[in-house]
Amino acid sequence: GSQLTQMAKPLRDAGVSRLNISLDSLNSQIFKSLTRTGDLSRVIAGIDAALAADFRHTKLNCVVLKGRNDTEVVDLVRFAIDRQLDISFIEEMPLGVITEHQRNESYCSSDEVRARLSEAFTLIESAESTQGPSSYWQITEAPNIRVGFISPHSHNFCGSCNRVRVTVEGRLLLCLGNEHSSDLKQILRSYPADSERLDRAIREAMTLKPYSHHFETNGDVQILRFMNMTGG
Ligand code: SF4
Repeated sequence: GSQLTQMAKPLRDAGVSRLNISLDSLNSQIFKSLTRTGDLSRVIAGIDAALAADFRHTKLNCVVLKGRNDTEVVDLVRFAIDRQLDISFIEEMPLGVITEHQRNESYCSSDEVRARLSEAFTLIESAESTQGPSSYWQITEAPNIRVGFISPHSHNFCGSCNRVRVTVEGRLLLCLGNEHSSDLKQILRSYPADSERLDRAIREAMTLKPYSHHFETNGDVQILRFMNMTGG
């Protein structure tokens, strides 16, 4: 989000059609403290730049922490309605060692978020799926947007997960909650013209995809890798 005032149009021109933009708070102080360096006004300008560049199905993502931003979920949905954007609320995952809050105390379940939203909106569960981890709900008052819930703790979705990620270092990660991976960069460097070998390596890596994460809500770190090292 922070780069979209410059990058929205070039990305759209390059063929990118949809974006997920992280927006955890509408309070600039809380936003800065949650993101450590973030400038809320810049991210909101970036969201508006994405709208102006005609991205389709842009989605806002918000990780909800009790005592930090959980009282803002209604305002965040109103922000999404104003801009006709989808929004997903995410339970925090135990990725990376942190000192700024206790994860076991800040855990906020999707059911709690939904209960808060139900005080302001009429929510109806949707059968719609994007093949991603969100379960979607419609808002009667704003039928054009969807509110998603990504609930790795309370409604584990590993059984239907088809997600893998490529890091900036060219490593194919098979799961957010495990270390299983395959080094695609090494194959690219060793056999630069052999796309079949790369294709085969990606297919073979799928057999390494773990069955499930082992996340707990007791505050223990499950994976040392931070989300910004994973990307996405
Ligand atoms: S299998 Fe891994 S990547 Fe997929 S939902 Fe579970 S933890 Fe996330």
